[in-house]
Parts: sequence; C-alpha cells; structure tokens
Amino acid sequence: AKNVLEVKNLKMYYFTNKGVVKAVDDLTFNLKKGEVLGLAGESGCGKSSLGFTLMGMPTAPGKIVGGSIKIDGREIVGLPEDVLRKEVRWQKIAMIFQGAMNALNPVYTVGHQMIEPLLLHKGMSKDDALDRAQKYLELVGLDPEIVYRYPHELSGGMKQRVIIASALLLEPEVVIADEPTTALDVVVQAQIINLLKKLKKELGLSMIFITHDLSILAEISDRVAIMYAGKIVEIGDSEKIYYEPAHPYTQKLLSAIPRLHEDIERLEFIPGQPPNLINPPKGCRFNPRCPYVMQVCKEQEPELKEVDKDHYAACWLL
Ligand code: SF4
Ligand code: MG
Repeated sequence: AKNVLEVKNLKMYYFTNKGVVKAVDDLTFNLKKGEVLGLAGESGCGKSSLGFTLMGMPTAPGKIVGGSIKIDGREIVGLPEDVLRKEVRWQKIAMIFQGAMNALNPVYTVGHQMIEPLLLHKGMSKDDALDRAQKYLELVGLDPEIVYRYPHELSGGMKQRVIIASALLLEPEVVIADEPTTALDVVVQAQIINLLKKLKKELGLSMIFITHDLSILAEISDRVAIMYAGKIVEIGDSEKIYYEPAHPYTQKLLSAIPRLHEDIERLEFIPGQPPNLINPPKGCRFNPRCPYVMQVCKEQEPELKEVDKDHYAACWLL
C-alpha cells in the first residue's frame, strides 16, 4: 500500500519562559493506506503534541522548527493558515481530540455541531450537510435521529461515537485518535475499539492511534511506535514489538501491563521520572532510567537501526 502520510525529521518545540521544550524532536515515520499505527509512551512524552503538529496546529507556544509532513504527497509544513484551514485540516487529516466528547456544547444539538465544518469548509447546503451527518451517524452505529438531540441526552459511548462520526465527515485520508477510549468504562472501551476496527475495514481508514495503554494497542494496531522524551525509540510490526521488544524502554513498558491471569504483585513499574524536555539527558534520553546503561549511552545519541525486517530501535545494545 502507498504511504498516505510521510513524516521526516519533524521537530516541534515549545518556546517557553523557562526555555525551549523539545516535545517532538526529529521524528521520521510513515503511515500506509489502510494501516493503524499505534503511538505509545508515558504521558508527557510528546504523543499529543505530535498529533496537533500533524494537524498543522501545534499548541501555543509551540512551533514547527524543522522537517516535513507530507499528506498524500503534499507538503503541509509552511502552508499558510488559511490554506491549511481550507484544504488540509479535517479534509485530509482529522483528529479525535482527547476528551472531545466532554467538550460538546450543551446549548446546541448534535447535528448543529456536526455540520458546522461542512457549511464552513465545503459550502454545503444545510440539508445536504444534515444528510451527510446522518449517514455517518449510522455508520458509527447510532440512530440518525440523534442529530436533533442535545449532548446531555447521550451516554458517554454515544458521545464518543458522535465525535468519531464528526472526524470522518469530510472523508479525511488520515485520522488521528488521541486516547479515544480513556474516559470510558471497559465495556464501552471495547465497543469503541470494535467500531474503529470496523471503520478501518469498511472505509480503509488510515489511523494513528495514540494511547498510554499498550494493551489497547495490541487490539487494533498493525504497527506500533514507542515514544520516549520526544523521540521514537522503537517502531515496527505490532507482533514483533509485543513478543520481541528490542528497546529496554519498550521492554519496561510491556512488563508494566497487567497481563491476564498474572498476579498483580508481579507487575514491574518503571522507576524514575520521564526527563525534563528543556534539558534532556545527553546521549540516550533513557539512560538515567535504563538498567543496561553503558558509558557510550551517556555520550552519544543512538539512531534508529533495523533490528529485523521493518522493525527499528534506537539503542546502543543493538
Ligand atoms: Fe539503555 Fe543505552 Fe540502550 Fe539507552 S542506548 S536504552 S541507555 S542501553
Ligand atoms: Mg496526551
């Protein structure tokens, strides 16, 4: 399959009073058509920052300072805001924002909120836009009559389906889902994962699925990227990452997942804090927490190396 998204040497830094925070620091990866790439790491590692950056809207005081983002072959870094708004955002790349279901406006009907971008960006008539919204509500398993309801009349799971339908309305090439199941109970979480799997199959959806929960990623991802301190430290086929993780950080993350039938006492947690991204550790950023740290790790930064077919990791042990 062809690449719908190509990210090369992407850097997005926050320029704060305390210094420059390197939240996305030199990332390179691709997303193929119809593929789900899971993006995992502890909170604060830059996952959501990457999502906003790919939408061409890094959160202030963030700025893209280098690299390239190509969506369907078109470079979007450097495009003026009005072009991004008219031609790229929501139409080529859409995002299911973390917590969006709780940000639905209580004053307006679901339909009103869903069709606003269609009226604004597509110049659609109100009737056509409502038809389209209803079609997508059906696709996500909701009664199309929900367009006339208010958010408080819906359950959490229903609201999240509305958010997913809204992200799909302009038929984007790429959808970024940021922690789309985090606020939901376990049963509803499973339903949302199944819905996303169904959409992937039926629409050939290409998706970046962001979460701190690796057990959810196993369910849905074709490939997984592990982020640590603004960097991708390992990327590859999900099965490879789960069964043969190459990077010590990935190994630690996986051992922190409660596995079925496993005694909770045996859980291993990763000691230490994720580093401060204003002054990240020299060399490998994981070195202060790594059980295998060597002298070279404190001096030179390891690059991603192919450890296996389509499986890359950045560690001096390899
Ligand atoms: Fe650990 Fe060194 Fe590998 Fe970093 S490069 S993960 S410190 S062994
Ligand atoms: Mg986040």
